[in-house]
Amino acid sequence: MEYADVKHKERLETLLDACKENLPKVNTDLLRKSFQLSYEAHKNDFRASGEPYFYHPYDVALLVAREIPLDDISVVAALLHDVVEDTEFSLEFIEKEFGKQVADIVDGVTKISGVFKGHEITQAENYRKLLLSMVKDVRVILVKFADRLHNMRTLEFVNAEKQRRIARETLEIYAPFANRFGLGRVKWELEDLSFKYLNKEAYNEIARKIKDKRREREAYINKFIKPISERLSEHGLEFNIGGRPKHLYSIYRKMIKQNTSFEQIYDLLAIRIILESDDANECYYVLGVINQLYKPIPDRFKDYISIPKKNNYQSIHNTVIGPEGRLVEIQIRNRKMHEIAERGVAAHWKYKENLFTNDKDLEEWVNWIRDIFENASKDEATKEILSSFELNLYQDEIYVFTPNGDLKRMPIDSTPVDFAYQIHSNVGDHCIGAKVNGKIVPLNTTLHSGDQVEIITSKNQNPNKSWLQFVKTHKARNSIRKFINKEEEKIVEHGKEIWERKLKKLKLNFGPDDIAKLSRKLKFDNFQQFYKAIALDQVDLDNILNPPEEKEEHTQNEFEFDTFANQVRTSAGEILVEGEHKGIVHTYAKCCNPIPGDPIIGYISVGEGIKIHRKNCKNLINMAKKSENKLVPVQWPRANGSEFVVGINIRGEDAPGILKDISNSITTYVNTNIKGINISTSESMFNGTITVYVRDLEHLNRIVERLKKIKGIYSVQRFDAEGN
Ligand code: MN
Repeated sequence: MEYADVKHKERLETLLDACKENLPKVNTDLLRKSFQLSYEAHKNDFRASGEPYFYHPYDVALLVAREIPLDDISVVAALLHDVVEDTEFSLEFIEKEFGKQVADIVDGVTKISGVFKGHEITQAENYRKLLLSMVKDVRVILVKFADRLHNMRTLEFVNAEKQRRIARETLEIYAPFANRFGLGRVKWELEDLSFKYLNKEAYNEIARKIKDKRREREAYINKFIKPISERLSEHGLEFNIGGRPKHLYSIYRKMIKQNTSFEQIYDLLAIRIILESDDANECYYVLGVINQLYKPIPDRFKDYISIPKKNNYQSIHNTVIGPEGRLVEIQIRNRKMHEIAERGVAAHWKYKENLFTNDKDLEEWVNWIRDIFENASKDEATKEILSSFELNLYQDEIYVFTPNGDLKRMPIDSTPVDFAYQIHSNVGDHCIGAKVNGKIVPLNTTLHSGDQVEIITSKNQNPNKSWLQFVKTHKARNSIRKFINKEEEKIVEHGKEIWERKLKKLKLNFGPDDIAKLSRKLKFDNFQQFYKAIALDQVDLDNILNPPEEKEEHTQNEFEFDTFANQVRTSAGEILVEGEHKGIVHTYAKCCNPIPGDPIIGYISVGEGIKIHRKNCKNLINMAKKSENKLVPVQWPRANGSEFVVGINIRGEDAPGILKDISNSITTYVNTNIKGINISTSESMFNGTITVYVRDLEHLNRIVERLKKIKGIYSVQRFDAEGN
């Protein structure tokens, strides 16, 4: 219990001193107040070690002030980082008493802790991204580093299972992060502590070997550095020279990676020279001195002073052949460069004048980090990781858990429907509800990083058009559209069936181009929309195919027909009546209006002579059932000896050249003669009657078929009024 004998007040003074020593400005009142609140809030709690819980936030704050010194706000937040989660004090209270920045950092640290609780780390890279996606203020992550480092330093007090879990999380998530933030020292300590709990045997063995070799190693290093120290002192330089500690985990990792022995790695000696002067030129002077004393190996020389690493690391790396022919690695840098290497971003800011005094500074800081990562793009190995980091700095993504604890990356503002489609399109298509963190929520709920999402499906559920208004992912959008289109196709297909049945009934003939034209005319975007409207009963097909004005024309047609019929009957000549009724007066039945070319039969009516009907006239068939003996065989005479005149009714689109197409189609077929053409147009439609000479019905049918094939013609019918 190293704290037992330290008085409460002394503890506060220690923290204030650390802050004054390391931070550019210190709000002493705010620090005192947070120190006191943290103490009061945690008064009745104890750690696994048996110590008062307050020691933990206090040590974390001290660690921030000394090892990751950013600003006093970070230290205040560190003191309060467990208050909201573990005690009755609320975030609102923290904000009221300590301001929004402190409250936001505390909130961020609390949220991160919540996410990692109860989840096995299966996809480390995703977890790192998740963490960053939740962090809006980078100080959150720095306080979290300090919190984690202190927990690792005191990990011996918790049970073995928890040790392993925390250690693994630290090694896979926090250590790589610390490295990326340039926190070299935090990184290696986190790694070595994790290594200790994850692989105790290997850790102990390496630790023992280092201890065994220490004396021999120190002796060699002293021998190596003695002439260097003398020369530098003679030159009046202020410097620090010594063996560079090799970290246990990095030795272990090299042994595994290079499949080599401890000795081979450890015997490669490393020393570091830190110059107190800010003059970078002195580093090159030192390099010159060393190269005069020992033979350098040229291809292992690296000048990170002229060209710093992307995380702002600066140093000269040199390897020389020392006494007994052993290789010695040397790092040469000044104090400022060293601080940046050890404390990363924090040290970088120590050398700037202001620190987060306003939002602009913070923004600049974030920009600086972003710069590091953007410029790192030349380094292929880290490119992918860094690009995702950069993305997350902009908060474009969220990471949510499946019920199994897998992480899914989603665009910001994604909803449970997006998540469902992310899992599988089948899950998306049938999702009917969702649970977020155990609670049922509407499907348009916005998800947040760290949410655990469970999708409820039902095989009767289908994608809903309204989902398109809130989904964020392409996958969800495309799948919903695909489903809706398929549904639409079915409706269109149904409309098409209705349409075709109708055409058949009305004996109309529409080609694909004609339908497209008609659809456009009716102001539909395309014929599919037209079919859809038919299926949904939104259009009156009878009206479209038989518009009122056309009906008017029809009566006109009937009138025309009579004229036409009389004309062709007269031109055909006398009806031939066979046998005993020869010579009896005959008239044409109004019910079926036969015209030359129709198969006909006579019917004897008392006082009216012979009525000429078509053979298929329904009226006639009914009458004939009662008195079959009244039927008389009759025949049309042959016009010009071999031809009849028939009328053909044509309807279609009034397109240029259509008349020429029609007449060509007729006259090019076995020299058919046209007797007359009569066309009337209304809007873009035309309606016409053509009289032609045909030899027989077969001839007529051929002509009709040819006419039907002309583009733009909807309907071709033998002109027979409402006959039969
Ligand atoms: Mn903590």
